[in-house]
Parts: sequence; C-alpha cells; structure tokens
Amino acid sequence: MNGSLYLFPEDVMAAPDIAETLALLQEREVIGDPLAKDSTKQVFLAGPGFAREVIFAGCSPHLRFAPDHEDDRNFCHVALHGPQAKPLLLTGVHTGKPRCPHCRARLDDWRRLVTGAESPVHCPACGKSAIAAALDWRQQAAVGRVLLELRNVFPGEAVPSDGLMTDLALRTGLLWRHAWNDMSPLP
Ligand SMILES: [Zn+2]
Repeated sequence: MNGSLYLFPEDVMAAPDIAETLALLQEREVIGDPLAKDSTKQVFLAGPGFAREVIFAGCSPHLRFAPDHEDDRNFCHVALHGPQAKPLLLTGVHTGKPRCPHCRARLDDWRRLVTGAESPVHCPACGKSAIAAALDWRQQAAVGRVLLELRNVFPGEAVPSDGLMTDLALRTGLLWRHAWNDMSPLP
C-alpha cells in the first residue's frame, strides 16, 4: 500500500520555481541525497529535517528512512514532480466524493466524469460546470503542475509544519496547501 502527503500550490495552474523549491527543501533538511531522476520528477532520500517538518499526530509511528531491499518503497522519502505543462490530478482508492465549488453539493458520479485535471464536470445540483482541478477534493486528491510528495505518510497521519508552509510561500510567492493520497505516480 502507498500513502503520501502532498504539498502543492493553491493555484493549480501555477508552476513554482523548481530550483528555489529544492534549495528550500535542502536548507530545511527535508531532502537528503538524490535517489533517482527522470524527465518528470526528482526523488531524494529524506533528510534529518523530514521528521521535524512532517508532524505526526498522536503517538509517532516507527519511521524508516532507508530501503530494506531494492524494490522497497515503504520508507519515508521525497519526490518532487514537475513542472508539468498541465496540472496532474491524483485521486486514489480512498478519495471521497468531491464537492461542487459553486454550491458545495457532493458529486456522486465523479469517478465516471473525471478522467483528468481538466475534465469538465457538470453539477446536477446547481447546473454549473467546473473543471476537475477546481473541485473541492477535501484534501483527498493532489492537483497541480508541481507536486511535492512526502512518501510513506498515510492519510490523516501527519501534516506539514507551519514553518515549511510559510517558507514555501515566501520562497515561491505562492500559497501552498496539502492533501493525502494513496496513489503515487510510480515509482
Ligand atoms: Zn453545484
């Protein structure tokens, strides 16, 4: 099972500067040595700041920061996705019904209607339309052109620190928000 905490700009069309974002993550020691890199993402080991900037509720679980074997993904590490030309929308097995941004009605049929971030969704309650990225996903989907993925954090288990969120806003000039999801753009 996968679980990730995602941080991303509130403006789903915004593309924060990747170099600035990485510099901030290095300064706050959220990321350590690089693990992998391809055209869509950069993956890093967690740094010593991961456990400071990801705040677990209740009794803190036993966190692992290194793989046990080659295919192991069940340890805390970090991926920075993007920037993509268009926003990604990551929904998962446990994503609940999103709400219409106009009237707040729950959209029962979203799994049929939503095929991507820009899918047009028509609300049967108020008759207005919105693109999927603009729905209220209630922190159960990640959406944006740049996604910071804190891996092996399960839904509701932990939140980002205020300091990290404030610093992201200052460094990128954008407000950021968070969500949890069980779906990851693998590996
Ligand atoms: Zn509506």
